Amino acid sequence: MTQKRNTWQKQAVTERLAQSDGFVSAQELFMQLTAGGKKLGLTTVYRALTDLVEQGQADTLVLGDGEMRYRICTPEHHHHLICGECGKAVEFDLPGFESQAQQIAKANGFTAVSHELELIGICSDCAN
Ligand SMILES: [Zn+2]
Ligand SMILES: [Zn+2]
Ligand SMILES: [Zn+2]
Repeated sequence: MTQKRNTWQKQAVTERLAQSDGFVSAQELFMQLTAGGKKLGLTTVYRALTDLVEQGQADTLVLGDGEMRYRICTPEHHHHLICGECGKAVEFDLPGFESQAQQIAKANGFTAVSHELELIGICSDCAN
């Protein structure tokens, strides 16, 4: 036996997460998977999610309830517009902001500068 013990579980978690159009918690993902007939435990879901985050394949987000939510994301740098109610997320770029940020860093002699920027609001579904 190699380290590949949870391969199909991780695959199932990855696929389910990729189908979601927003950030979902491990609990929600677990319920979706078991409802879909997958026999795996909540701990396994957590472990698969932790792996994905460590490998840079998923982004995390903590909303007001303090629970960690996950989403499969494009590897390129981008930003999120997030619904604080349901976790729905839209990815967007800010090219003008990126070059301005670089200029500010450079003007102040900073290198290796990074940032995260998320816009949190209420989506049209949740506003109704
Ligand atoms: Zn993203
Ligand atoms: Zn919403
Ligand atoms: Zn940016």
